[in-house]
Amino acid sequence: MISFDSSDIPPVLTTPGPFTDKAYTPEYGISSLEETKVLVIGAGGLGCEIIKDLTFSGFKQIEVIDMDTIELSNLNRQFLFRVEDIGKSKSEIAVNYIKKLRCGGIDKSLQIKSHFNKIQDFDDGFYQEFDIVICGLDNIEARKWINKKLIDIANNGKIIPMIDGGTEGFQGSLKVIIPTVTSCFECYNGLLTEDGDENQKYPLCTLASTPRLPEHCIEWVHQLEWEKLYPDIELDADNDEHINKVYQLALERSLKFNIQGVTKSLTLGVIKNIIPSIASTNSIIASACSNEAFKFVTCCSPFLQNTMYYNGENGVQAISDPFDKNPNCEICGNLPIEIEIKNQLDMKLVEFIELVNSKFNIKLYKIFTVHGDLYNQDQNEDKGNGNQQSKLIDLLNVDKDSDGIIYSKNELIILQKGTDKVIKLIPQFIND
Ligand SMILES: [Zn+2]
Repeated sequence: MISFDSSDIPPVLTTPGPFTDKAYTPEYGISSLEETKVLVIGAGGLGCEIIKDLTFSGFKQIEVIDMDTIELSNLNRQFLFRVEDIGKSKSEIAVNYIKKLRCGGIDKSLQIKSHFNKIQDFDDGFYQEFDIVICGLDNIEARKWINKKLIDIANNGKIIPMIDGGTEGFQGSLKVIIPTVTSCFECYNGLLTEDGDENQKYPLCTLASTPRLPEHCIEWVHQLEWEKLYPDIELDADNDEHINKVYQLALERSLKFNIQGVTKSLTLGVIKNIIPSIASTNSIIASACSNEAFKFVTCCSPFLQNTMYYNGENGVQAISDPFDKNPNCEICGNLPIEIEIKNQLDMKLVEFIELVNSKFNIKLYKIFTVHGDLYNQDQNEDKGNGNQQSKLIDLLNVDKDSDGIIYSKNELIILQKGTDKVIKLIPQFIND
């Protein structure tokens, strides 16, 4: 009988190195490895590798989400799948395989579970169960969704780190995101290209008049010619007849411009915006993700601060860089702050202004919501006190939550003299 022996793990955790935190104890490292609940999102090229790496690094509680089914084209790199698995759920097959791989399923200490779902199928309560999330996703939309979800959860008190791996051909990257503490996925926004944003890839003038690459000829059909020839038919990348037509038109154009290399498979690749996925890149990035998770969870060694880029295209290069929070990030930058008003349902606007000024040590001159101004110092000087003696609660659009707390449904935007810095507040009236 083959038995899984994790004896290679304890020495790593019992032998502190020069960078190990002074407060670290091996008992802590070992127990957190066993008790940490890890969520792996994606059981594809990266996911298969991540799940394997985590289980063989001693993690004991793992759940895997993936909404996809296995396709023939996955088998060259998604090594937990076989021909007979085509059409079945990736997460279920991956988890079953790992169970078998780990001493024929008799290692009861490993609790691994699959979810054949979209990430959007689960609520906050589900995600709050986990201590760390590792993403091996192939699209930006899903990363943005889970990033925002974890920031929302962090704002409600539980910080769940997210380790995000990504690959594109021979290149890869890794981010360690601690929601609300470090830069979030959206902070990198300027560096990201949107999914399916192929219009940005080649300038239209190149496609229209000076094509040089086979891709230019295919994109010319895709973006310009198809609509002219077939105004009533939407180009469907899964329709073989459509792809054949695009291929023929692109080929004709390539001959006209003396460009070589237009093939049917390239046509399909360009239309579907397929980025080649390479097994070795996936393996490198996945092992780096698992390594960071291991260090973060056990505290045996410092973890990545906070981004790593790998380039295997021209030789082998890997650099790591701290990536600062973007103060204007739409997701984690300048989030609204809840401001408690205790036992003072009749607080006047003028009193609220004093409260804000003293709490934030500012001199505010304007408060407004999406519905307009609540207070504008410049105007009030001409028009007397305006709203200042009104009750704040009467000026707001309020609602009551299940705990009986009355809160403003709109953010109050606070402007201060002499600075562009904006404070966003959500007043909450609490009566004991
Ligand atoms: Zn951010």
